[in-house]
Amino acid sequence: MKTFQVKAVGIVSNAFNDPADYHKIKEKTSSIIIDDEYSKGLLNIKDCEYLDIVFWFHKSAGFTLSGKTFSGAERGVFAPRSPKRPNAIGVTTVKLLECNKNKIIVEGLDAINNTPVIDIKCCDTSLFASVAESDPVQLAILKSDPRIEIRNNIVSGKTDTLLIKAAQLHGHFCPGLAMGVMAAAFAMRELKVDSDGMENLLAITETNNCFADGVQFVTGCSFGNNALIFKDIGKTAFTLTKRDGEGIRLCSRHESRDIIEKAFPDFQKYYQLVIIEQNRDAELVAAYKRIALQRAFGTLHIPLKKLFTVIRLHVNIPDYAPIHESVVCSVCHESVMKSKTTEKEDSFICFTCNHSNYGFLDGFGIHF
Ligand SMILES: [Zn+2]
Ligand SMILES: [Zn+2]
Repeated sequence: MKTFQVKAVGIVSNAFNDPADYHKIKEKTSSIIIDDEYSKGLLNIKDCEYLDIVFWFHKSAGFTLSGKTFSGAERGVFAPRSPKRPNAIGVTTVKLLECNKNKIIVEGLDAINNTPVIDIKCCDTSLFASVAESDPVQLAILKSDPRIEIRNNIVSGKTDTLLIKAAQLHGHFCPGLAMGVMAAAFAMRELKVDSDGMENLLAITETNNCFADGVQFVTGCSFGNNALIFKDIGKTAFTLTKRDGEGIRLCSRHESRDIIEKAFPDFQKYYQLVIIEQNRDAELVAAYKRIALQRAFGTLHIPLKKLFTVIRLHVNIPDYAPIHESVVCSVCHESVMKSKTTEKEDSFICFTCNHSNYGFLDGFGIHF
């Protein structure tokens, strides 16, 4: 067998000098002092809330290939997490509490004082199967009712959870997304309705910025299911309406921006440096991201009516989206909705091939 050389990158410091009950060790915080040679490797480690600490059981002597576990069961050495193993390597997931220069303070480590640390990694459980994938009951529930978790979060007012999920669509956390999430969750609770993704419920958004993604995610009224109507009028506002026209409109108050800025006074300083002045110093960017995250989640806890005006209204809503016949463009031979073609001598030409004028939506709004 090959042998490998492993080098310690740091050492554990805590109150336990001898092997002890690992539950007791885990209850206390531990420090890990990183060698100067590797201390630069801690750059922006604060972005990781949980870490996997890989360490060497330096007091472990020898091993047997199988033995009795604590509960009396017979197990091979690779089944339990015992320190007595062919390579005395331990791996424990810990919560990162603090990082000061070359020292990190963690909670949940079960290694004793002076344990050599051989590696530290950001803990990434997304690499494992999701709950739904590993739990057949959960999977069956989600298959029969894909919005059940979202609806439960709306009803119980768990906007933090909704914001995390909405960011899976949006890609980042920001107050705009948070405002979309809180406005949409409020409107859904007020109308006591959920989306079936089949136009029973419609959302009319008056902006195509971050806010609109919060609205789409929470209401389930999306671009793709024709339940999202876009009015290109540049207001952070949206109306939620049932098919009978009973609706509710939330519009952000003009002072909402100031309220959010005042709640997070440091944000502007970092925004100026990182976004406006494009200073991409790694620590500065990380600090900017952290405060932006606090600001997004903090926005959720500002009373809704300080940020929005709310009115009930009746909305004239359009008919269900038509089902369009498809034809084949006689020039590019691609399939295309018949209503989006020009008919010429019994054949159809798509707008692209015909160089027709057509509407498109981008960050500037709708164009022709
Ligand atoms: Zn955003
Ligand atoms: Zn074509």
